[in-house]
Amino acid sequence: MLTNQHIAVIGGDARQLEIIRKLTEMNADLSLIGFDQLDHGFTGATKCSVNEVDLTKLDAIVLPVAGTNMEGEVDSIFSNEKVILTAEHLSKTPSHCTVYSGISNSHLQEMAKKASRKLVKLFERDDIAIYNSIPTVEGTIMMVIQHTDITIHQSNIAVLGLGRVGMSVARSFDALGANVSVGARKPEHIARITEMGLKPFHLSSLATEVANLDVCINTVPAQIVTSEVISKMPSHTLIIDLASKPGGTDFRFAEKRGIKALLAPGLPGIVAPKTAGKIIAGVLTQLLIEQLKEGEEKNP
Ligand code: NAP
Repeated sequence: MLTNQHIAVIGGDARQLEIIRKLTEMNADLSLIGFDQLDHGFTGATKCSVNEVDLTKLDAIVLPVAGTNMEGEVDSIFSNEKVILTAEHLSKTPSHCTVYSGISNSHLQEMAKKASRKLVKLFERDDIAIYNSIPTVEGTIMMVIQHTDITIHQSNIAVLGLGRVGMSVARSFDALGANVSVGARKPEHIARITEMGLKPFHLSSLATEVANLDVCINTVPAQIVTSEVISKMPSHTLIIDLASKPGGTDFRFAEKRGIKALLAPGLPGIVAPKTAGKIIAGVLTQLLIEQLKEGEEKNP
C-alpha cells in the first residue's frame, strides 16, 4: 500500500485517470494539479493548484506521458489554466521526491538536475514499451484498414525495425495473413526475423525491397524512408510512420509523389486510453512501492 505517501499528479489526458484510480486504491494521498474541470471525484484526492500544494511534503510527482514542454508547461485536458512546473518548485520538495514522466526533454532533465531530483522516464523501460506495443499494434491495424481498399490478408507489408514495437507489429500482421517482410540492421535481428518465419532484409537495401509493397510500417526513429526509397514504391503504397516525431519518412516527397504517408504518434492514448493508463499505472505503482521500501530501509 502507499499509505501516507503524498503524490502530486500534474496534468495529462484520460490515461491519468487510471493512474489516479490505481493510486487512490493504494491509499496514497493525492494532490491533483490541473484537474479543475474534472467532474469525477476520487476519495483521498484533492484538486489544487501548483501554488496551493505543500511541496515540502511530496514523495513523488507524476507528470503526463509527454512530461513538460520546453517552457516547463504541463498539458492537461482537464484544465483551461496553464500549469507550469519550475526547478524552484522541485527544489522545495524533499530530496527523496522522485519525478515520474513518460518521456522527457532537455528542459525537464535540466530542471530535475538543477534541483537534484531523480527523474524516471517510464517509457524508456522495456516492460512499459512492450505492454504499450499491444495498443500500438491495434491502432496500426485500425489505420491500415481505414486507409486501404484491400484486405490485410495476402497484402505485402514491410515493417522497418525489430524493436519492441516492430516485433509486435510484424507478428500481428503475419497472424492476419499478410506477407510480412522486416527490415533491420543487426545480424541477430535478421536471425530473429528468419526464426519468426518472416522475410528478413537489411535496411541498407531498403530501396530495392519496396517495389511490390502495399503497406510500409516504419518504427525506426531515423530518416530511413527517404525520397530514393519512396520513389521505388508503387503509387498505391500506404506508409504508416509509428516512430516518434518527426518520424523517419520524407513526408514532403511522399506528398509530391502522391503516396499517402501518415505519421501516427500516440496510438495507445488514442485507441485504448484506459488500457494505456492501466499499463502506466501498474508499473508506476510498483516503482512507488520500491521507492517507499528503499526509504524505509534508509530511515528505519
Ligand atoms: P526500440 O525498441 O528502440 O526499437 C527501435 C528500432 O529501430 C530497433 O530495431 C533499432 O535497431 C532501430 N533503429 C534505431 N535507430 C536506427 C537507425 N539509425 N538505423 C536503423 N535502425 C535503427 O523502440 P520501440 O519501443 O520499438 O519504438 C519505436 C518507435 O516507435 C519509437 O520512436 C517510439 O517512440 C515509437 N512509438 C510510437 C508509438 C505510436 O503510437 N506511434 C507507440 C510506441 C512507440 P537497432 O537495435 O539496430 O538500433
